[in-house]
Amino acid sequence: MDLNDQPVHMNKQLENDLKQVDSLLEKVKWQGLDFLEKLSERPTSATPVSQTPETLNEDGLGGLNTLSLFNKRFEQLIVGSSGPRYLGFVTGGSTPAAIAGDWLATIFDQNTQTVKGQGDISAIIETGAIQLLLDLFGLPGGFLGGFVTGATMSNFTCLAVARQWVGRQSGKDFAREGVSGHIHILSAVPHSSVIKSLSMLGIGSNNFEKVKVEEGNRESIDPEDLESKIKALNGQPFILITSAGTVNTVDFDDFKAISKLKEKYNFWWHIDGAFGAFAACSPKYQHLVAGWENADSITVDCHKWLNVPYENAAFFVKEQHKILQTETFQNANAPYLGDPMENFSYLNFLPENSRRLRALPVWFTLKAYGKKGYRDIVENSVNMARLLGQFIEQSKAFDLLATVRLNNVCFTLSGEQNQDKVPVFLARLNETGKVFMTPTVYNGKKGIRASFVNWRTTEEDVQIVIDEMSKLTDNE
Ligand SMILES: *Cc1c(COP(=O)(O)O)cnc(C)c1O
Repeated sequence: MDLNDQPVHMNKQLENDLKQVDSLLEKVKWQGLDFLEKLSERPTSATPVSQTPETLNEDGLGGLNTLSLFNKRFEQLIVGSSGPRYLGFVTGGSTPAAIAGDWLATIFDQNTQTVKGQGDISAIIETGAIQLLLDLFGLPGGFLGGFVTGATMSNFTCLAVARQWVGRQSGKDFAREGVSGHIHILSAVPHSSVIKSLSMLGIGSNNFEKVKVEEGNRESIDPEDLESKIKALNGQPFILITSAGTVNTVDFDDFKAISKLKEKYNFWWHIDGAFGAFAACSPKYQHLVAGWENADSITVDCHKWLNVPYENAAFFVKEQHKILQTETFQNANAPYLGDPMENFSYLNFLPENSRRLRALPVWFTLKAYGKKGYRDIVENSVNMARLLGQFIEQSKAFDLLATVRLNNVCFTLSGEQNQDKVPVFLARLNETGKVFMTPTVYNGKKGIRASFVNWRTTEEDVQIVIDEMSKLTDNE
């Protein structure tokens, strides 16, 4: 049968695009290459434009015209957030191999669900990529993991299993029956996404008990205060939420001390290591996470220090909790999806059902650059943070708000009288388009954060940042 002789019912625009898919993708490739080549010069902020109402036309424009229209309206306004001087939030870039893997994930368009396979191997690639990550972090066997959109969803996933664990301690199945009773949560400086997860999980964002932090400008849990709070719970089960890298000052809880407590008391231990987990990649910094292998669950972001495109994060939960995790995320009442307890399937193991092949960019970048690649990225980021930190320490115009512990610099303008000028200074610095940083409040002071996780950042970049900061304060 020759399809060319048949009457064709495919939509005209789609048929046309199918014929010229090569020129469409070729154009996108060259445009993408041009973007990457000039990424370092691309402004790190854009002036917002007023939004024009969108209208949907009847026949469509076709792919090539749509690309032209997009370029006319938006291309110039796309900021260099994946570039070397975007230091706001904790924003990673994308390695070349990660981009290649991500492109293919889009083109393959797999739906990653079952490991035993209903005819595809995407979930097998996912378990393989999880093994690579565990290897990168030097975490022993005993963890199962999967990919979700970001550390927020990873924290949510881990804490959902923790919630189920708490219920099971008194024979309740919260996943089926709903949450009842008070769930005890202890934490010192949880990330906002942890608090958001508590609210999404029906635990309540107010319902966590704050543990004291250690003395000496620290954000880490005071182990003594923690133990006294544990004793006060009188053997009731609870969830301990700890940090491998707080967002302001990248402080780490003492995982060795917590491991000892774990031997004495009955609790679920979660670590939010969204970016700080990557300390494990370098012999210089891996002591910061010593003892973390005893946790029940760990969150890591891949779109930060792993430098793969958004949206990408992983969770690791101890294999011994597999049943709790399946109870939490199973698709009950769906016989066509199989028995969730019988066959391990991502469908029954995490929040989303249908998912893209998020493992592919991770698999690509880890195979491409190996342990050495990530040791170099991590050590370079820390060196760049220290360079900026040294400048601030020596400068009359700025003060560090905390020592540069790893890859973040948290600072402010010198002098109490300049506190009100911090937001203005930051706005003017970001308006230069040469660098982007984000505001914070630390110990009651208005401050600024610069976070280094991008593989591209060099000493010249830090010098450009220092020059821009100096120009703004010298003019005062
Ligand atoms: C970024 C971050 C999160 C949230 O991650 P998303 O990827 O934005 O969802 C959670 N915890 C920490 C410590 C983070 O740095």
